[in-house]
Amino acid sequence: MRHDEEFKKYANWLKNVSVSVKQTRLYSAAHPAVRESMRIAYLEFEVLFTKQEAITIGFAGDKCVLDGRVIDPRSMKAADFIKLCRKFGIESFVFSKGLTLGEFQKFLDIMSVRPKEVEDKGGFKKIFETIDFEHIKTVSARFEMVQEGEKVAKETEIGGGSSGDGEGSGDLVLDSDEPGAVRNDEISVPQSVTELVDAFRTFSLNNVVCDYGSLHSELSNEPQFAAKLIIRSAQDPEEFKRVLEGMAAFFEGQLTPRYIEDKKDLSKLTTKMAAEIKKHIASPAVSEEFRLVGEQFVAILERCEDEVRIGILEKIYQESNGNLKTLESWSKKLLKKADIQSRVKNLLKDKLVQAGITDEAFEEVYATVSSKNVAKKKTKTSKEAPTLAEGEVAVSSKDLTEMEQKAKELDAIKEQYRLVSKEKKRLQDEQRRLDGVIRRLAAGQIVVDEQANVVMLNQAAERLLGKTNAEAQGKKLRDQLQEEHALAIVHGDLLDTDDVGQDIETSAVSQDVQETIRASTAVVENINGRTVGMLSALSDLIKQKEINEMKSRFVSHVTHELRGPLVAIQKSLGMVIEEEMGELEAKQKVLLEMAHRNMQRLERLVNDVLDMSKAESGALNFKTVSLAALVEQVQNTFAIWAADKKISIKINVSSNNPEAEADQDRIIQVITNLMGNALKFTPEGGTITLEVREAKALEGGLEVGVRDTGVGIAKEDCRRIFERFEQVSGNQPQEVSSTGLGLAIAREIVLKHGGTIWVESVVGQGSCFAFTLPRMQH
Ligand code: ADP
Repeated sequence: MRHDEEFKKYANWLKNVSVSVKQTRLYSAAHPAVRESMRIAYLEFEVLFTKQEAITIGFAGDKCVLDGRVIDPRSMKAADFIKLCRKFGIESFVFSKGLTLGEFQKFLDIMSVRPKEVEDKGGFKKIFETIDFEHIKTVSARFEMVQEGEKVAKETEIGGGSSGDGEGSGDLVLDSDEPGAVRNDEISVPQSVTELVDAFRTFSLNNVVCDYGSLHSELSNEPQFAAKLIIRSAQDPEEFKRVLEGMAAFFEGQLTPRYIEDKKDLSKLTTKMAAEIKKHIASPAVSEEFRLVGEQFVAILERCEDEVRIGILEKIYQESNGNLKTLESWSKKLLKKADIQSRVKNLLKDKLVQAGITDEAFEEVYATVSSKNVAKKKTKTSKEAPTLAEGEVAVSSKDLTEMEQKAKELDAIKEQYRLVSKEKKRLQDEQRRLDGVIRRLAAGQIVVDEQANVVMLNQAAERLLGKTNAEAQGKKLRDQLQEEHALAIVHGDLLDTDDVGQDIETSAVSQDVQETIRASTAVVENINGRTVGMLSALSDLIKQKEINEMKSRFVSHVTHELRGPLVAIQKSLGMVIEEEMGELEAKQKVLLEMAHRNMQRLERLVNDVLDMSKAESGALNFKTVSLAALVEQVQNTFAIWAADKKISIKINVSSNNPEAEADQDRIIQVITNLMGNALKFTPEGGTITLEVREAKALEGGLEVGVRDTGVGIAKEDCRRIFERFEQVSGNQPQEVSSTGLGLAIAREIVLKHGGTIWVESVVGQGSCFAFTLPRMQH
């Protein structure tokens, strides 16, 4: 099989498994979006299992290895799933044929355990082992990236069930590009600082994935080395710029948050690095272009430094529950120099005030920290100052050169300041433009910081919360919510940003629901652009439900009213055709018979529409129902039709206690609809089996199946036939007219009972429609 076909083969499977893992982590298992995505992902398993016995997925860095082939999960929207597996320390999974929906659901359940809980419970493997999976195994297989002139993923050891037609292990070959050309199509995962610098030089920024763990200790131990590498890499201004941009993104995106998290001062690293870069760009041999990008990079380092200081102080303040003494002692440690103090003051104040400090308390702490410095400085100057009479100034020639040197440095600083201000203005303009676009986006968008304080609401989100952006900014998101808002924030705290991906796909059951969810839902992102939750306005959803109910009431009313006259016309036509009212001419009879048939069709349609609206809006009358008795009743109902078509109907009840909690009439309707279809689509001499068994998919539930030996349904049609008015063209038998509503009615009833309905089918061999029901609670 060719490679792109191989990729396609897995693309849907991996994407859908990944989406259902994501959805399960976000919502409760009963959420329609979760159930729908789970069903879709399960179908993908079935598709793959038609051709192979097992699927092996292993993890190597940010890549995955599917049945021995390296696959970039980003192209399949599965990066988050892979990250999660890596975080849980999973080396590989083998899913084998026979996997049930129930097993898959349990798999999703354990994948949605919070990382902290996983740790508390002794790791993912332990949790995994507590469930006796029959068709899912974690296998001890290690995949590692090796460099052998070309980069491939190598499987060093594998402990079981891999399949696929195995063409060797690696597919990920990096072509040797022209020097200086940026490679966009591959991903680099640098493991050392040398590789990191090299990656920024060779790849486009988006294609470099930094693994903080392996990089930061080397970087903090030898910042000068890193700076020298950067300088050495500067072959031309473009390349130098790219490396500096990459490093700046690494400092801003990776190091800064981690240093805040670890409460470590970043300046030890940045000062040394900045000094080295400054030394280099100060050389007259360096061109203006180099100098400019160098200066910008140094300014970014300084900004990161300050961000870490502010971030740590804010964290300290929050963790100590607003203890001012703790804040003071940390401030003294982090804000030693006067220039740093004045630089960070306003921003720090903003953050701390947001966290709850009063203006006065802040000023007090700040005054103690800065006075300590002034006092220090004063004693220092008084010690060093020579005793001079008033008006006297002592300047030695050494002092003079020093002063000149200082003046030059001051000029350089001024110039740097000018450049930074210019850059700042450009960024501000850019940000304003971006904010404008985001604010006008149709979909709701809320940005929060790591403490869940609102940073921005766009217009759709303003409508959703009933608050303006200005009102909500800086306040806790939870405080902005009213009862009607259902909040689905990711399990775990907002810092745990690895948990959810950027985009959450809502694949709700019907188009209507999907539209409403979209219009009344905002995605909550943190400032790093990561989605950390969803917010829905229940009132909108309820309104939609009310409108739907009104619609069904109207339809049911109209169809009910239609039924009366229809029956009357039908009866009259029957009498005329039977020639009770006098003889008919042959031509008249043909026309009237045609009208009679059309009336019958119309009556069936009206009945089905009526059933549909009853299924949608009617209340269920739950009681204990014996499913064995129900299938027998349906068998009797269809006995004559079946005998007429020479089809035998069998019953197979394998559960000892097939009692469910259900609305008897409705469930009879479901089985009748499935049975009617089975008879329609099974040719003479076939067999239909009514099965009742323990549900594999539903904990403690029951499963009813209607299996036929009929024409079967193609895989691509299996999903849509449950939608209203959907039929498979070409397989409609002539003898009975149909409306395409039977399965939609059945699905509606089963969903209302809390069960699921599906079909397994092979064209030319037959189909098995099955649904689950919860068992009676004793
Ligand atoms: P209809 O009134 O057309 O039977 P349904 O919603 O019950 O409407 O079924 C939708 C379509 O699904 C049918 O038109 C048919 O194409 C397909 N279908 C349903 N059951 C079977 C079956 N047992 N075997 C083959 N095809 C089936």
